[in-house]
Amino acid sequence: MALGIIIGGVLISVMILVYSAMPDYFWLLAWGIVVFFSVIMAFFYSTLIVPLFNKQKPLPDGELKSAIESFSQRVGFKVNGIYVMDGSKRSTKANAYFTGLGKKKRIVLYDTLLEQLTIEETVAVLAHEIGHYKHRHIFIQSSLSMLANLLVFYLLGVCLQYDFIAQAVGCSSASFHINFMVFMMMYSPLNILTGMLENAVSRRCERQADAFVRQNNLGPQLISALKKISAQALDNLTPHPLFVFVNYTHPTLYQRVKALTD
Ligand SMILES: [Zn+2]
Repeated sequence: MALGIIIGGVLISVMILVYSAMPDYFWLLAWGIVVFFSVIMAFFYSTLIVPLFNKQKPLPDGELKSAIESFSQRVGFKVNGIYVMDGSKRSTKANAYFTGLGKKKRIVLYDTLLEQLTIEETVAVLAHEIGHYKHRHIFIQSSLSMLANLLVFYLLGVCLQYDFIAQAVGCSSASFHINFMVFMMMYSPLNILTGMLENAVSRRCERQADAFVRQNNLGPQLISALKKISAQALDNLTPHPLFVFVNYTHPTLYQRVKALTD
């Protein structure tokens, strides 16, 4: 919460300043600030923010490290650093991800993942992450969310101009603060729609990353890994298809196992 107040407070103060200085171009400038901020965060997230909450240690030499390195070499992926994070501190959920851009790029494995999975299964999970990288999914998904943000800021810019929006909630004339609050209320339904689109794109990316694992003959290992992870996370095995369509960023376990075996 403290981080949210500090970072969010600074961001919103900057936006109010921009709005008072250049109300006509506010939407474009505010969007530019958010894009700039996101890129900075992507660079420093793993080195500045994560260490506040978790410890990350380099993966020690051994069977797992050699298995990861030989797989990465085989598929032509350059590993800049493999770290283990003490995810068990707060949760039993297992995960692995890439973080950072360019030279700051690193693989982070949760200790919970290493406890639950065999070496081959861990390599299969990493192969899935490398699949995302190979298909440039991070770039595609960030571009899409930046476009969605541009739409939001444009609508906010329009919304900030009108007195009648402030009057609808009992104020006399438009101001940044009141129009912003009304905008947030009106925006929620639209957010569900853009969220659905982003989730559909995300599920497609997940299918491609799984297909990459399959091409590299690690399908069975990924299936057993996914089963263990889903069991540990108490995932719903039979969610309603409509619920999946609206909320899921990944295909269901059943769909993924099916695609990996058919
Ligand atoms: Zn994925």
